[in-house]
Amino acid sequence: MINKTDLIFRQSKDGIEPFSIVDKSAKSKNIKDVIPKHLLRNYKPQLPEVSESQVVRHYTNLSIKNHHVDKNFYPLGSCTMKYNPKINDSVALQTGFANVHPNQDDLTTQGVIKVYYDLEKSLCELTGMSRTTLQPSAGSQGELVGLLLMKKYHEKQKNNKEYVVIPETAHGTNPASVIMAGYKVKQVKSNSRGRVDIEHLKEIVNENVAGMMLTQPNTLGLFEDQISDIISIIHNFDGLMYMDGANLNAIVGIAKPALMGFDIMHINLHKTFSTPHGGGGPGAGPVAVNEKLVDYLPCPMPEFDQKNNKYFFNYSMPDTIGRVHSYNGNFGILVRALTYITILGKDGLKKVAQLAVLNANYLKEILSEYYDIPNAEGSLHEFVISAVKQKDKGLKALDIGKSLLDYGFHAPTIYFPINIPESIMIEPTETESKQTLDSFAEAMIQINNCINSKLDYLKNSPYNTPVRRLDETTANRNLDVNYSNEKK
Ligand SMILES: *Cc1c(COP(=O)(O)O)cnc(C)c1O
Repeated sequence: MINKTDLIFRQSKDGIEPFSIVDKSAKSKNIKDVIPKHLLRNYKPQLPEVSESQVVRHYTNLSIKNHHVDKNFYPLGSCTMKYNPKINDSVALQTGFANVHPNQDDLTTQGVIKVYYDLEKSLCELTGMSRTTLQPSAGSQGELVGLLLMKKYHEKQKNNKEYVVIPETAHGTNPASVIMAGYKVKQVKSNSRGRVDIEHLKEIVNENVAGMMLTQPNTLGLFEDQISDIISIIHNFDGLMYMDGANLNAIVGIAKPALMGFDIMHINLHKTFSTPHGGGGPGAGPVAVNEKLVDYLPCPMPEFDQKNNKYFFNYSMPDTIGRVHSYNGNFGILVRALTYITILGKDGLKKVAQLAVLNANYLKEILSEYYDIPNAEGSLHEFVISAVKQKDKGLKALDIGKSLLDYGFHAPTIYFPINIPESIMIEPTETESKQTLDSFAEAMIQINNCINSKLDYLKNSPYNTPVRRLDETTANRNLDVNYSNEKK
């Protein structure tokens, strides 16, 4: 019997072939005529021999083993796992976009360069920045690019700088990028309102500070309302302000980071602008800058020559930090983002932010009756539960996350941000219906209410997933990627 979860190689049987309309005898004769004898292999390729239906079922079954945003709710805090409208894919898959080659002559790719040009214009309009590079593949790569721009700026100013300030709530990629760019990290504390502690910031900022990276709104889902003070403190020492824009969906269409005083920011197209996300596929993390940094942006930049009515890439950028991606970035992702922006328009994008905030606050209000939510005042698009009450009764944030899997939901982000004990970070996003939010809230409430009666059961969850609870320490230290049916 073929087990539907079995490896496709184990399903293989000699002689099974998918349906084919090619005359096999003619085809094989033909190939042998064309390929020189010494290049023909004398053994069969190591491919499974299976029928078309086996292949289709195999991949369909694989596609639903893991959780994904097309399957069910994905409230992963910070990550903005919103539904990706399928029209984005249809547009990106049009042959003019999908089959274009980056080495084609500009004259044959005018529409393609226009996509770069228009997307850059839209992102500049939404952020208030002067120019935007579309090359970086992810937010984290955008961070590194932003810091290299910061470094170039200080080199040009002949500034001698050593440190970049980041808050203790920062995403882990922030300190990593600081180190990769050759700076050192200075950490600023949070105050009791969950925002940057201004007094502490004043203490640690001096002429050695190259700049500050700040997530706005921050990773507790709170708007840094003293942003003008923060930015003057940094600018006073000719430091630059970097905005981690991963949470842009909370303010898109409503507030422009450049007007707050930020000099540089990245935008995660796969978060805010709804391009596919997760699973290791391509993303895009454009970096937008103000006038101070335009000359240093990665090369080339898309331009429009009005006189000759022609789009082109400008390579003559003497002060550029250089290329940060082969060719011009992950084009398919850029097409999807431009499609999303064009369809929604200004008003639609503003509604994105409003609904993202409404959905998060709706869930927060329901759950606050059962879970502690510190710094709950002023939440925007996400909020952070502190499951200390539940932990005291024996159920940790990790157990709550695992229990949610049995309800068919993805677990929220847990143990981040690190300044909240037993943190559970929830971002519903604007694409979810009230029914979905209600059923998620119901699951969270049931888990809380069952702690006393079903503690052992909950601590051993999940039960309905392809794999049960893994020993995560062993999995990390002794990675075993050999599949075996015998092992469980
Ligand atoms: C997701 C995220 C990043 C990193 O972005 P990637 O596109 O995943 O590399 C950085 N900061 C914050 C706050 C994030 O949520």
